[in-house]
Amino acid sequence: MKTDIEHISLAAERWNAEQVLSWAFSTYGDRVAIATGMGAEGMVLLDIASRIHPGLKVFTGDTEFLFPETYDLIDRVEERYGVKIERILSQLSPEEQKREFGPELWATNPDRCCELRKIEPLRRKLATLDAWITAIRRGQTPQRASAKKVEWDPKFNLVKINPLADWRHQTVWSYIVKHDVPYNPLHDRNYPSIGCTNCTRAVLPGEDARAGRWSGFRKTECGLHAAAGNTAAPLVQLAAVGAEE
Ligand code: SF4
Repeated sequence: MKTDIEHISLAAERWNAEQVLSWAFSTYGDRVAIATGMGAEGMVLLDIASRIHPGLKVFTGDTEFLFPETYDLIDRVEERYGVKIERILSQLSPEEQKREFGPELWATNPDRCCELRKIEPLRRKLATLDAWITAIRRGQTPQRASAKKVEWDPKFNLVKINPLADWRHQTVWSYIVKHDVPYNPLHDRNYPSIGCTNCTRAVLPGEDARAGRWSGFRKTECGLHAAAGNTAAPLVQLAAVGAEE
């Protein structure tokens, strides 16, 4: 399957988001699903996809540490599009994690916390699929800059489809306004990127859009889309050895 995808990957770079999604649904049927963290891009993706394939499968990683606004958005999206968003949970409840790893694992070892609450659950889910569809854009982070619209995902061993890879931030928000797409109200309160309550803060004027994620750590990705080397070493420690990004 990995070799089959290479020639499609080249052709897909000329397709728009609708064409990429149509190809994904007709090629993989029930073996493809949309993964969304309920961000602005994910909302656009769901809006487009719901018109192409009303019976689409959608899932989100529910770390059980999400903002109330995010849980409310899940409910609103389900109602608006008539879909059921599958919540992918960690095998450990927050209480079990606390007993096993201490009260605030996200503050001492966020990579481990993300592994337990996001990566391992996603790995379990992706093992049931042939392809997954994400809402990542190349402009979001350096780790996403080389994302293709259709590519092999060596980390999880299936096809990864990124229909919005070449979209710009402004295009996303123009689409949201034009189509009255539901979105997380925290975006209007200086939260351009929203994850868990423990690891997300509002950004200050002039800060990078992802500066509010894992603030104080060099970590910029939870590891779902990142290549190796996405360290979670505290910035103060990195500065001491001259290893700042
Ligand atoms: S974002 Fe923070 S709280 Fe959420 S899983 Fe990762 S480290 Fe844990």
